[in-house]
Amino acid sequence: MRYWSYLSAKLLVAAAIPGGLYAGLAMMWPSRYLARDLAYTTAVGICFLIWSGLSCLCLLDQRYRCRVCLRRLRMPIETGSWSRMLLLGRPRTEYICTYGHGKLNVEEVQISGSEPPEWTPQAGMWEELSAASGPKTDGTER
Ligand SMILES: [Zn+2]
Repeated sequence: MRYWSYLSAKLLVAAAIPGGLYAGLAMMWPSRYLARDLAYTTAVGICFLIWSGLSCLCLLDQRYRCRVCLRRLRMPIETGSWSRMLLLGRPRTEYICTYGHGKLNVEEVQISGSEPPEWTPQAGMWEELSAASGPKTDGTER
């Protein structure tokens, strides 16, 4: 829910900026004839391009965010190999949340149409590492 709320807020801000430009343009322009006045049509087209670009940036940014804490996913690791596909699988890039909430697998090549990236939640990703290096609570030596 938080993930989608954050995306909605970003898209609203991305729509408000060109919307404000368009409102200012509509107030200042003497004759507003879309598709008849070339300068006005060009200005409206530029507003549309700004809105499209900002929306794409929002979606691209959101794709690489943690679904739980909304931080940027880090540590991209390329896995798989085309030459050893039967052993290692298809090439993909794996991103993880540094706080251990999950990982995102992004296919390198979209063979059978557009495949959405696969988010895998991981409960306690770092507990195993921190348990191995942290102090033991039972008082015994390692
Ligand atoms: Zn996270």
